[in-house]
Amino acid sequence: MSPAGRRDGVDPAVELAVDWPACRARGLCAELLPEQISLDEWGYPVVHGPVPRSLRDLAVDAVRACPHRALRVVAPPA
Ligand code: SF4
Repeated sequence: MSPAGRRDGVDPAVELAVDWPACRARGLCAELLPEQISLDEWGYPVVHGPVPRSLRDLAVDAVRACPHRALRVVAPPA
């Protein structure tokens, strides 16, 4: 079993969650955090797994920049 908080070799600081009804699919979050977020064919964000500690600050910046408060951080599973 892997150490607590680790999955797939990543030591996550946070995970990102999208509030789909609030999201307007403009893609700002993917521009700010391309390492973790891409866009689907309709422009909605696709979050690629837990955010490693090295990208935590950028993830928080992306959350703060979302104009519709549709992106949020959640604690990684224990
Ligand atoms: S920045 Fe916010 S509103 Fe825009 S695509 Fe990302 S989650 Fe959706």
